[in-house]
Amino acid sequence: MTRLDDVKTLKALVGDPVHLREALKAADIAPLLMVLIHLGGDPAWLDRVRPYIKGPWSFHEETPEALKAELREAVAAILADYAQTGRPWPVTPPMDLLPKMLDVCTGQHVPPEYYPLVLEEMDLAGNDPKTVLWRQPPAPDTLKHFHALIIGAGFSGVGMAIKMQEAGIPFTIIEKNDTVGGTWYENSYPGCGVDTANHFYSYSFNINHDWDHYFAKRDEIFHYIKRNAEAFHLEQKIRFSEEVLSMVWDDAAALWRVHTRTAEGALHDLTANVVISAVGQLNRPQMPTIPGLENFEGPAFHTARWDHEAAIEGARVGMIGTGASGMQVGPAIAPIVKTLRIFQRSPHWAMRNPLYFAHVTDDKKWVLKNIPFYAKWFRFQLFWSSSDGFHGMLQRDPNWHDQKRSLNAANAKVRVELEAHIAHEVNHDPELIRKATPVYPPYGKRMLRDNHWYRMLTLPNVELITDHIDHIEKDAIVTKDGLRHEVDVLVLATGFQARRMLTPMHIEGRNGLTIRESWGEDDPRAHLGITVPSFPNLFLIYGPNTNLAHGGSAVFHSECQIRYIMQAMREMIETSSAAVEVRSEPFWDYQKKVDDAHSKMVWSHPGVDNWYKNAAGRVTQNSPWRLVDYRNLTEKFDTAEYDFRRATETTETAA
Ligand code: NAP
Repeated sequence: MTRLDDVKTLKALVGDPVHLREALKAADIAPLLMVLIHLGGDPAWLDRVRPYIKGPWSFHEETPEALKAELREAVAAILADYAQTGRPWPVTPPMDLLPKMLDVCTGQHVPPEYYPLVLEEMDLAGNDPKTVLWRQPPAPDTLKHFHALIIGAGFSGVGMAIKMQEAGIPFTIIEKNDTVGGTWYENSYPGCGVDTANHFYSYSFNINHDWDHYFAKRDEIFHYIKRNAEAFHLEQKIRFSEEVLSMVWDDAAALWRVHTRTAEGALHDLTANVVISAVGQLNRPQMPTIPGLENFEGPAFHTARWDHEAAIEGARVGMIGTGASGMQVGPAIAPIVKTLRIFQRSPHWAMRNPLYFAHVTDDKKWVLKNIPFYAKWFRFQLFWSSSDGFHGMLQRDPNWHDQKRSLNAANAKVRVELEAHIAHEVNHDPELIRKATPVYPPYGKRMLRDNHWYRMLTLPNVELITDHIDHIEKDAIVTKDGLRHEVDVLVLATGFQARRMLTPMHIEGRNGLTIRESWGEDDPRAHLGITVPSFPNLFLIYGPNTNLAHGGSAVFHSECQIRYIMQAMREMIETSSAAVEVRSEPFWDYQKKVDDAHSKMVWSHPGVDNWYKNAAGRVTQNSPWRLVDYRNLTEKFDTAEYDFRRATETTETAA
């Protein structure tokens, strides 16, 4: 919004005081209070409301109605004053009050180390700090001879492309699907959605005020990504229905030679100065290796390849797997199938959230869109409510007495709450409690959002089977206890080949070293999760050890990586470097830090199996860091950690 628009909008806003006051009732109190202080309202308001904000979620707030009404009036009055005087409002909040504002907004203490992150995540620093600017405008010729390839047009690939487009760096995206969206396109199973609140799980640089849900379902997220791609006219730069088969580093030319295949089978050769993989970790379905699976005669499909033609209504459905996908599919189909038999190898923990099923009202959307800074403070509240606050709970206390079931006092407290939730939801049925309650500590596997899973288990047509599967026959799953469970349709909610990262692409770096030789079958490693020695000019988004599993948003991490990669390319272009490669000392130093941190955390706990660690027990997928740590680690691309090779006269350039 320009200043002129601001004033016009404001005038319209305060010109309809009835609507304004009505709409303000939809605003959550903590972010509304922040708006007031941000706009220069009386700081005494912070102390007045502070006692009633008990935590960072809106449902943690207990402000008396009379005080809320007074606060809304104060906001309406200050907006009227801005409209009347036409004076500009401050882009940044009053910095002397910021510490107190953050503490009051969350009902917790926000340490100073978070201030830079908060200002940039909310885009409140006044200069779009996540956009990497040229230190000196590159000569047009330089950019003419530079071309990057992004693999994948999902959330990260589209975000990367937007930032490159802003900087004027030429690029092409190769996308195996016929549209954008990546995992949010491919996963269309019933109930598919996100469990990070969307007003935070979205680009910080393109805040969406129109989410219909706080936790959106698949279609909304897919359309959000698509809208972004369209708004930035990315489609013309995407080669849809084309897949990267292999890429080989040509050291003499300092180029990646990339081989692709279209859906029709046409083969293409491309070259690129830089390749950015945005294929993510959850790209290729993991099909279970269960004897006899191939003999099943009914429809059998993976959740990420949902067969919408398969008739599940009134059918006897068997579902294998109870992770994040299964947790969403089960309750979505239980009401329409004849029977749902769920085959659980091990249970997950699942947490309730009162906003999980809530719609965003029209008035709330209006507030998000129209009340200056409200959406940004709301985003901050969500960031804080679902991020680093949980990190401590995942650390193993060496002196803790109950190591098998919990890790520390806070972890044990959550365990008690989760157990009480399960018991309540299954009507205290001892058999269901036994089956559905994990032995391992909370957060050992991904913490799920309870999608009415436990309540679903009590339905008469649902059965939770915990005896392990022996084999599959043409119309049944047979468990180790010899029981035959007849089913018409088989749903495989069995996860992804996350540890076999970048599969099935053949990637060959310097001296013919392949990525599989470098990583083995399941030991992916990268410096900051982004760069790999012997693979110059290759950057990974959502690479090794970058999955967030204590909290936070994958989009936040991806934006950290995008900024880092943008700086790397800026460095290359500004110094006329043909190749940049991470040095092995910082790479191994980082690996050691990651492994040390993980050795004290929940995912390496011996009592838990998860998709986060490899066969040797090394945690390869998750980040051990708090969001603030990873943001600080990736904030600046450190040239000292890299070898640069100057371009020579003979260096070929990508076409
Ligand atoms: P997952 O978490 O890996 O779960 C796979 C499930 O299949 C587990 O219950 C696993 O049992 C079971 N399984 C695998 N192979 C099996 C076999 N051979 N026999 C019996 N059971 C088998 O996969 P996911 O549910 O697709 O989720 C993967 C990740 O995607 C999540 O962790 C999350 O990061 C993301 N995701 C997020 C959302 C969301 O935001 N709500 C939704 C879907 C996915 P064990 O646990 O015993 O191994």
